[in-house]
Amino acid sequence: MLCGRMNDALAIAQHLIRCPSVTPADAGALGVLETLLKASGFEVHRVTFSEPDTADIDNLYARIGSEAPHITFAGHTDVVPPGDESAWSSGAFSGDVKDGFLYGRGAVDMKGGIACSVAAVLQYLADHGGKPRADGNGSISFLITGDEEDVSVNGTVKLLQWVAARGEKFDHCVLGEPSNQEVLGDCIKVGRRGSQSGTLFVDGLQGHVAYPQRASNPVPDISRLIVALSDEPLDHGSAQFQASNLEFTSVDVGNPASNVIPGQARAKFNIRYNDLHTQQSLRALVEQRLAKATGNRIRARIVWEPSNSNVFVTKPGAFTDLAVAAIEDVTGRKPELSTTGGTSDARFIASYCPVIEFGLVGQTMHQIDERAAVSDLEKLTRIYRGVLERYFG
Ligand SMILES: [Zn+2]
Repeated sequence: MLCGRMNDALAIAQHLIRCPSVTPADAGALGVLETLLKASGFEVHRVTFSEPDTADIDNLYARIGSEAPHITFAGHTDVVPPGDESAWSSGAFSGDVKDGFLYGRGAVDMKGGIACSVAAVLQYLADHGGKPRADGNGSISFLITGDEEDVSVNGTVKLLQWVAARGEKFDHCVLGEPSNQEVLGDCIKVGRRGSQSGTLFVDGLQGHVAYPQRASNPVPDISRLIVALSDEPLDHGSAQFQASNLEFTSVDVGNPASNVIPGQARAKFNIRYNDLHTQQSLRALVEQRLAKATGNRIRARIVWEPSNSNVFVTKPGAFTDLAVAAIEDVTGRKPELSTTGGTSDARFIASYCPVIEFGLVGQTMHQIDERAAVSDLEKLTRIYRGVLERYFG
């Protein structure tokens, strides 16, 4: 039974997990948050976005206070499918607690993280007369999407635009994705590499293998280009990032015959790039290297895939310092400020305000028996409260 006065992270997480909100379904998950936040004085908006050929997605934006500074807690209530449900030791959407662990899809990615942020904010407000700051300044909001684990087109990007169109501005964001690798407190994500995919095409001239003089084989040529593009490093890393990396992922000529020289070869690749590049400069650099390697002899071109995964980084400063202090206070660990790993919605939020990612421990995310330690839920709630105390203090 959902009670509007509930401010316990475990109970909130259980309510969320029991809504089987596999993208694009909401299954009542946002309604759980709406009820809780409205009861504590938040202005809550439910916003649905549509796009041809994709599912409509339900999103939530809730804010208390109208003045700066404005901190927003971002997240997603959608989850990946459970896989073989019979393989789970407790039902994938049971929200059961066993041996000190909360089980269920989304326990760490990231209903558990959202539950901790909601619990922390509600506890903080209860302790501070229902206001972010006694002088009437300060705002706290929640920016929650149901579209992170799939195509991400009707979620955070549009919700950010929607909030901006209302004339509202964020000053800082905490995204509660499972950022920790091994134990709570080991890692804050302060940036992510950009991701850019492309396909290299090399044109030859198809012919009979017995008459190579009448053909031009693209296979040795594409091999040379692959080696050339792979061998030369894109950079040697930057202050906050590891080196960028270009990785070929498939090579194909689509040729079923052993007596035919194929007419074309193609190779797919993906680049994870750091803050020494922009998408534009990176593409230009690779094209320039390709031109050098083809030497006006090989007919080659690259077709770039559209990408919205740009590189971003939140530089160390007052905001990261207060998060580190809150984490150290509760866990005794000084977290690493990391830029490793895959992409998240932080890449979109970073265009609006500085963003850090800090949530639960990611070890079991997307797995059978995804689970969060109940003690971690309690600690993460205290950490978020510590962030709020320092932010508005
Ligand atoms: Zn996630």
